[in-house]
Amino acid sequence: MRIPTEFMIGGSTYTTEYNAELRDRGRIGECHMQQCVVTICPYQKLPQQEETWIHEVIEAANDKFALDVHHGAITALAVAIHQAITTGKGDLRQPGNPC
Ligand SMILES: [Zn+2]
Repeated sequence: MRIPTEFMIGGSTYTTEYNAELRDRGRIGECHMQQCVVTICPYQKLPQQEETWIHEVIEAANDKFALDVHHGAITALAVAIHQAITTGKGDLRQPGNPC
């Protein structure tokens, strides 16, 4: 999957950046809510970077919409969504389908 460098959540524009210093702090990703910046540690394999990005996007939505989703649920949702996207087959929007 593609990791966007810019995306929107609830009307706010967020950016995604690599930050190699995350590893020094034992982190693989962070979401800076005030600055609307998601940072990803580049020393992970690509699938882990993707899953981390999804995790941070859910964290951002959790904050933005005051959802109060606990961290374990955020982690599970990120794993499930990433798996669904990366194992998906076919294309619903292929020619001949009604929409
Ligand atoms: Zn987290």
